[in-house]
Amino acid sequence: MMISDGYGPASHTFARTFYQTLHRNSSDNPDGVPPFNWGFPLDKALVGSHRSRSSDSLITDSAAGATAFSCGLKSYNGAIGVDSAGTPCGTVFEAAKEKGYLTGVVVTSRLTDATPAAFFAHASSRALESAIAAQMLEKPYEGGERTIDLAIGGGGCWFYPSSHPESCRTDNRDLISEARQQGWDVREPPSSDKGAAEVKGPHGEQKIATSATSFNTSYDLQGQSGELPFLSLLTSSNTPYVIDVPSDSKGRAAFPTLSQLAEQAITLLADNARSKASASKKSQRKGFMLMIEGSQIDLCQHQNDPACMGREAIAYQEAAGRVMQLVDELNAKGEKTILISTSDHETGGLTLGRQIGNDYPEYLWYPERLTGVQHSGDVLSAKLLEYYRTGPGARSLRQFVVGHILGPEGGLGFGAGTSGGEITEGEISRVLECLPSSRSMVVPPIDNDDECRKAIVDVASRRANIGWTTSGHTGVDIPVFTHGGAALGEGLHGIIENTDIGKYISKLLDLDLKSISRKLNVK
Ligand SMILES: [Zn+2]
Repeated sequence: MMISDGYGPASHTFARTFYQTLHRNSSDNPDGVPPFNWGFPLDKALVGSHRSRSSDSLITDSAAGATAFSCGLKSYNGAIGVDSAGTPCGTVFEAAKEKGYLTGVVVTSRLTDATPAAFFAHASSRALESAIAAQMLEKPYEGGERTIDLAIGGGGCWFYPSSHPESCRTDNRDLISEARQQGWDVREPPSSDKGAAEVKGPHGEQKIATSATSFNTSYDLQGQSGELPFLSLLTSSNTPYVIDVPSDSKGRAAFPTLSQLAEQAITLLADNARSKASASKKSQRKGFMLMIEGSQIDLCQHQNDPACMGREAIAYQEAAGRVMQLVDELNAKGEKTILISTSDHETGGLTLGRQIGNDYPEYLWYPERLTGVQHSGDVLSAKLLEYYRTGPGARSLRQFVVGHILGPEGGLGFGAGTSGGEITEGEISRVLECLPSSRSMVVPPIDNDDECRKAIVDVASRRANIGWTTSGHTGVDIPVFTHGGAALGEGLHGIIENTDIGKYISKLLDLDLKSISRKLNVK
């Protein structure tokens, strides 16, 4: 299963058009991308959409959204693997483990974040990340099996004891040592990641602010090979945004792509499932269930940052294309495999077309004005505040905004002769107005208080003529895609409930979620 967190119908149109615009006439595309009818591989896999509401709101959060997929039931916003009464519910991972399948998660946020957590943990609130991290290593019930065999993602700080300088934990448990004692193959975040400046994200989580410079540029997948159970902690907190990851002269990104991570996970799980199968009777042969999340699409949309979202969404679509190929290869070997790709909800109320001013608007939006954007609003805001705090003064500040924030020197890429167009006085003023009146008043901005980030991404959105209605989530229906023969069966076509996806997985793998729920709740 793949989950594009926060990615709605407009995000999909945006991502496709942005990709076409980026690759039109580019040298890395010798075949030429047909400008109008080209599509992502997933486009051909659309089967319908799901209604995403939770038990207590017409607008779900990621926790209730993921619990709908993992337990097949509606729960309240904030619920991690518990029903609407707060009682732990059996998840497809727990039931799959009992049937002999291997399980895994790959995410670009923290492994303790709501979406992955709902598959392997039970918590009354998504904020209980210390407990969620610990549950990854624990048996969910007496006589049960470990719920998860592979975990690749950020959030390393939740695994260090509170005495550790990088720790986010509320207790002194050292989960990295505990995991190693249990036989896990653990890869820790590279030391260059530690000490990165951090701010609070939209859900109050720790988030790397200056991610562009805070990780090791020789970073790799922390080993292509590995042993199950496998725990790869890529970063201390969330992984850096795709748009902030530098590339070398050959265009190779300095941080693993979602596509690479997904392939690493599928290879490890499929190889292990195969060797496990050959050691057991043919009738007992089982495969694996993997959840791959494009987590950061959601954060970019929370921040109403169009280019940040576009780059994350393209990385997700590229990963989905690769996963579809791998699914085909497994099916060709007779190992029946399907992919389900969907989102938990839409974030930001993104819309393509925007009325600016009172005049009746033209029917236009401009993806080409965003192709030169070189960093997330998060990083640009941090750069601007740092320059204001330590730079030489007002005159050079204006030049800095024109060149490095709005302009082509690592900024939004606007200016004379660029596809973004010339920078206006109004845009410069709007960005300068975000700064506190005195440089001594600069403090690291937190989440929605980051006025400079808001001003910068608003300049980009207005230029592209796209709109946002909220920094939170919205309640629109969400597209559902499937690939692989078995997926064409009953249960996912048309407009379904998000819970039907959990029920479908359960039926497909012949799982008994109710019996797991009973075992979880033995007093
Ligand atoms: Zn979400």
